[in-house]
Amino acid sequence: MDCIFCKIVNGEIPAQKFYEDESCIAFSDINPQAPVHLLVIPRRHIASLAETTAQDAELLSRLVIAAKKLAEKQKLAKGFRIVVNTGEEGGQTVDHLHLHVLGGRAMHWPPG
Ligand code: AMP
Ligand code: ZN
Repeated sequence: MDCIFCKIVNGEIPAQKFYEDESCIAFSDINPQAPVHLLVIPRRHIASLAETTAQDAELLSRLVIAAKKLAEKQKLAKGFRIVVNTGEEGGQTVDHLHLHVLGGRAMHWPPG
């Protein structure tokens, strides 16, 4: 399958990794939108949040907890934002589920 994030999971494409365990990995976003911009992804290919089911509850909670731990490690005590762009109108450009962890600056609301 021609999925860029699966290639990062398999080591075919390099990435600056910040965390990995048996179910997920985290690495720097190649085009950072904030001083801290990490992506947390499942090792297993899941196209988007819209593809998940109740069967994925444990995996999804692992991704969220990993994101929160990364925010702690990055010393984002003043706050951070987790974003899951989903589908075309949601702004998703890579079709492998990922959580953006953004921090290090004040975030705007509403997002664009
Ligand atoms: P989204 O637009 O929510 O699907 O987010 C996809 C993100 O993946 C974007 O922020 C890209 O900058 C990022 N991205 C694309 N290719 C790579 C790569 N090879 N390594 C790290 N991040 C990437
Ligand atoms: Zn994939």
